[in-house]
Amino acid sequence: MNGLPLSNLPQKLPRQLSLELTAKCNYNCPYCYCLWHEFPELAKGELTTEQWKGVIRYIVDHGVNDILFTGGEALLFPGIKELIAFAREILPDGTLSLFTNGSLMTEEMFLFCKEKKVYISTSLQGLLSYGTMTGTERTFHPLLELLAFGRQNKWKVSVSITVTQANRNEICNIFAAAALSGAETIQLGAMMPEGRGRNHADLALSRPEWEEVKKTIRNMKNCGVSYSFCDEMLCECRTQPEELLKKFGNPDFKPCPAEKEFGVIGPNGTFRKCLHYWDN
Ligand code: SF4
Repeated sequence: MNGLPLSNLPQKLPRQLSLELTAKCNYNCPYCYCLWHEFPELAKGELTTEQWKGVIRYIVDHGVNDILFTGGEALLFPGIKELIAFAREILPDGTLSLFTNGSLMTEEMFLFCKEKKVYISTSLQGLLSYGTMTGTERTFHPLLELLAFGRQNKWKVSVSITVTQANRNEICNIFAAAALSGAETIQLGAMMPEGRGRNHADLALSRPEWEEVKKTIRNMKNCGVSYSFCDEMLCECRTQPEELLKKFGNPDFKPCPAEKEFGVIGPNGTFRKCLHYWDN
């Protein structure tokens, strides 16, 4: 365990952890909530594959049995396959998941995930608005092919959709495209003005606009896929500027179960209680 950053990690861990393997990403989403866009120190000194193995061994020894590999873009982490194989070996019955923007997924990697029983989720952020939503020149077509590949291979992919001012006018089409291409489930949430989104708060929906989006989805014809909404529009466990609280705060806010039920280990091994929270 020489030189491993285990001293950063608490003794008592929640059962479910997200591992942000890398802060690197080949997308440039304006709403990206990754916290290193606000706190660059969180991305300095990324762990190596061997160090991540030490972290995985430690967290499994401390009762974690549900691990999500994410980023940045997790498939940009060179040791991703090695880490998945290692995690499955020491956690034969645990839950393993991978969140990816989908752009680097290959058939071989997909089938490897299926073999290791790794649930895959991705995001479909737009159709006409895909380029704007991802800050790239890419189109949505490969994403739909990925969903169809999952359906053909009986390992369906879950989809999340972040709703902003840029894609809300085509939200029904995005939802239908994901459902009809074979998404396992769909989760929709309004953009949170955090991370890089802090500088693009004008893209965020107001609470009434978000309620309108929910109503539109509920009124759609049944596309045969189960879906859910995430109503959090601002992390209120963090200290937030008054104007953001006024606009995006939830009047019924209750402290969330972060740290008790789930937590995050960032690219350099820093433990945080939530993807949206950093108490520096
Ligand atoms: S939201 Fe995800 S895909 Fe988009 S820039 Fe951030 S990490 Fe990359």
